[in-house]
Amino acid sequence: MKKGQIFEIKIEDMTDEGAGIGKADGYPLFVKDAVPGDVIRAELIKDKKTYGYGRLLEVCEASPDRIVPKCPIARPCGGCQLQALSYEAQLVFKENKVKAALKRIGGVTFDKTEPVISMKDPWHYRNKAEYPVRKGKDGRILIGFYAGRTHSVIECENCLIGQEADAQVLGAVKRWMNEFGIEPYDEEAGTGTVRHVMIRTSFASGEQMVCLVVNTKKLPFANELSRLLPKTVTSFSYSVNLKKTNVIMGDRTVPVFGEAFLEDVICGVRYRISPRAFYQVNPAQTEKLYAKALEYAGLSGNETVWDLYCGIGTISLIMAKKAKKVYGVEIIPEAVKNARENAVLNDINNAEFFAGRAEDVLPEHFAKTGEKADVIVVDPPRKGCDGSLLHTIALMAPKRLVYVSCNPATLARDVSIMREFGYEVKKVQPVDMFPWTGHVESIALLERVSNRKADAKVHIDVDLEDYYRIKDAQGKDGK
Ligand code: SAH
Repeated sequence: MKKGQIFEIKIEDMTDEGAGIGKADGYPLFVKDAVPGDVIRAELIKDKKTYGYGRLLEVCEASPDRIVPKCPIARPCGGCQLQALSYEAQLVFKENKVKAALKRIGGVTFDKTEPVISMKDPWHYRNKAEYPVRKGKDGRILIGFYAGRTHSVIECENCLIGQEADAQVLGAVKRWMNEFGIEPYDEEAGTGTVRHVMIRTSFASGEQMVCLVVNTKKLPFANELSRLLPKTVTSFSYSVNLKKTNVIMGDRTVPVFGEAFLEDVICGVRYRISPRAFYQVNPAQTEKLYAKALEYAGLSGNETVWDLYCGIGTISLIMAKKAKKVYGVEIIPEAVKNARENAVLNDINNAEFFAGRAEDVLPEHFAKTGEKADVIVVDPPRKGCDGSLLHTIALMAPKRLVYVSCNPATLARDVSIMREFGYEVKKVQPVDMFPWTGHVESIALLERVSNRKADAKVHIDVDLEDYYRIKDAQGKDGK
């Protein structure tokens, strides 16, 4: 196999990132923009020993699931990967992905995943976007999204899965930059001022929070920009990020005008959200996800609940209304501050929050108090839970463990560990939080089915290496 070689292949499967997989004489080829069922012509652009990357040249026979992307920049933009796949087919792909991971990595032959909870209208669902700002070859300011795998910016100010009102904010930022000679960030040189524009919208009120990520200690002409921003913006701040890094937000947030938070309502609870705090990006689906979490928790009012990786306390506060006591643990201090404020805002006084790593806080608390738990909820980032945390969870012996996951592979790995501790998967519900992208959210209910001693030696280091080798071949992952 040589670079530049041209293949005609049938796409049989899809990677986690939504690229098509086909085989040329047994050699797997990953082709972006090709969908299962397509027969395509592809050029080999990167050859590895056991697999390669192809570029789609031509769709010779279109898959019955292929559609014309609604978005005009679907191909160059790295934001969505499945715009050429019908929504129904995406849901099937996502359900299968959860099942396959549970079987392959979790050792659970579990065919009873519920059908994916889908969206009726899967457009304009995101409440947040982080737009990179760069200079184009012609010197113009470009605001949009990164192209897939690279950091060149594809101009887009009216994303079909984002908020239409963002365009006014971006227009104002551009006008201000042009008027006051403010330079976009240059990643290679580390020069220029404006790196990103973060916009978050409250679906409850329509209000917007804007946070400009800048490469300077102080934002120049801040008041001038304040005057140009539309009236819907109720919170404007900037985040100082002087580092040469891919991490978007800096460590220091400086308020310019309005509140230091945005307020939104989910499942009847009011939440304040700081710029740096995590908040689910698809509010309509979040309501359904949290309702499922509450259902799986099966609370009667007498339980002690832990909500690990709690962010601004969303799940904690919804559960606090139905439980005796809820403890939340979160690593970002601003989010913990929000969680405490949110408890007060909603007159909830049976919730307590700890700042720190779940894998430190929970073992320390348990060692000190010996208190067990009735229900534990975890909602970790893509890398899943730490082995020592799972061990402590098992020692605390909750009847139910509700696992909210944005990565089926690590969910399945953690499930396999909890099975060693005497827990079994009872229900799994995928929820489509990210239509048109390859990302899959799911929620699993595990129940304690045996009194196996949690301190029995278990094999915690489930080998994900194989999985990630495949994954590497498929491209980088990210939330
Ligand atoms: N349950 C919340 C947040 C889920 S996202 C919600 O639905 O909104 C995962 C959260 O875990 C993020 O807020 C992140 O800051 C936090 N986090 C990441 N690593 C952590 C760790 N080791 N311990 C505790 N929290 C962590």
